[in-house]
Amino acid sequence: MRLEDFPEEIQPFIIPSHEGELIYRCLGCDREYGIENLLYTCSDCGGVLLIFDRNFDRLKKISGRLWQKIFDYRKMLSIPGLKGIYRYHEFIGPTIPLDEVIYLGEGHTPIVEANDFLQKEVGVRFYFKNDGQNPSASFKDRGMASALSYINFLVKRGYVSDVLAICASTGDTSASAALYASFLQPHVKSAVLLPHKKVTPQQLSQPLGSGAAVFEIPGVFDDCMKIVEALSENYNVALLNSKNAWRILGQESYSYEIAQDLEYDLENKVIVVPIGNAGNITAVISGFIKFFETGIIESLPKILGVQSTHANPVCRYYSEADAGKREFVPITVKPSVAQAAMIGNPVSMPRVIHLVELYNKISARQNVFFVEVEEQLIMDCQILANRNGHIACTHGGESLAGLIEARNRKIIGNNDIAVVDSTAHAIKFSGFQEMYFAQNFPKEYQISPDPDFINTPVYVHPKDLKKIPASGRPLHGKDFEEFVKRISEEIAKDLGLKKVEKL
Ligand SMILES: *Cc1c(COP(=O)(O)O)cnc(C)c1O
Ligand SMILES: [Zn+2]
Repeated sequence: MRLEDFPEEIQPFIIPSHEGELIYRCLGCDREYGIENLLYTCSDCGGVLLIFDRNFDRLKKISGRLWQKIFDYRKMLSIPGLKGIYRYHEFIGPTIPLDEVIYLGEGHTPIVEANDFLQKEVGVRFYFKNDGQNPSASFKDRGMASALSYINFLVKRGYVSDVLAICASTGDTSASAALYASFLQPHVKSAVLLPHKKVTPQQLSQPLGSGAAVFEIPGVFDDCMKIVEALSENYNVALLNSKNAWRILGQESYSYEIAQDLEYDLENKVIVVPIGNAGNITAVISGFIKFFETGIIESLPKILGVQSTHANPVCRYYSEADAGKREFVPITVKPSVAQAAMIGNPVSMPRVIHLVELYNKISARQNVFFVEVEEQLIMDCQILANRNGHIACTHGGESLAGLIEARNRKIIGNNDIAVVDSTAHAIKFSGFQEMYFAQNFPKEYQISPDPDFINTPVYVHPKDLKKIPASGRPLHGKDFEEFVKRISEEIAKDLGLKKVEKL
């Protein structure tokens, strides 16, 4: 819709004004830094940074109700800079001009309610939010759209040139970084570091296809992360891991979309997210706080963070009930089907600690919870979900497993409604499904397939059938008729089909 066709009271707000004053703030010592430079950690204390808007209070002058209308009307626009995560421009990047926003179709992924069967199985009303329906098939595109829009802004202003964007990845960050960087070539090039054999073939193909320099490193993600940190400290590169606070800003869109799709009613809602490097849960919490503080939502949903027992440093930290006694200890991870979350030393841990405390305080009760789940349940839940109309990845299975665990532990009540994060598309992780169906999971995973779930293709080739077609050698006449007849008989027999009575 064209701007002049919007209601008059909405028109002045549709195109964002650029009144934000963004700064980096260190969570360790509160020191602030300007955003003209790419920064990742505080040069004083080494703490992680978050981006704050010094002029945030101006957003509170607009009523929550009006904000809701602004976002709802913006849905009808055809301006690329407001179509994706920047629909919430004032909350995501209020200094980035619209024509410097990089939009590759990210965001606004659907929430899909589970069918009756699945809701009964799980015992809770719930939706999946399909973040695998982003351009590179994971939620990471939200943060990359933000980080690369910012880099584009720096390039256009002449603050930087010939950027080499670099990241360590469990597979999805690199796919996303390479995709967004390739859009900005030749100004931006990308290099990605992956733990050798710890990403799926699909994930490996993505940065290769986007033309990134791809390095495979012995070890696990935590090792790659240290190398990338060393590179970003010693060389002139742009770090695209979620240590980069711009990633967090973009990922906050996940919360804004849920709010909008639920018509801004977050009463009795539970948001379930898997945790790896903890950038995602940081962003989700931060996003809901901003919408709450501006009156766009009137209640804060419960947040449920989920980890596998094979990669559970955050759950271990919070398993100590006495906040004063909690101590963060990085762990050594074991193989997990939630492979993109196989991280023992999450970079965003200080952000999580900071935001969980704040969120619980604003909520005036405990409102962030953590549960850990077995690999077996993760895999079973993924397959169960996908046998009921979903496209959940293994991390979506992990989220669903967490929901079941939280219901069993009475963290979630009968009237709660959950939105479960499927962080990537099922096909990125189809190798785990293959191992499940072929019953050849290496034993470290501790997964034994449920026979009811195993599904393998049937090769239809009756022994008495002499002639079969091959590529370049089609069958003709009687031979072809015989082939069609015999094969269809075999399939009918296998499926137990009844013959139709011919009149
Ligand atoms: C990155 C990733 C995660 C973990 O998110 P963090 O922000 O690292 O906690 C979970 N699932 C998928 C599919 C991912 O790519
Ligand atoms: Zn500091």
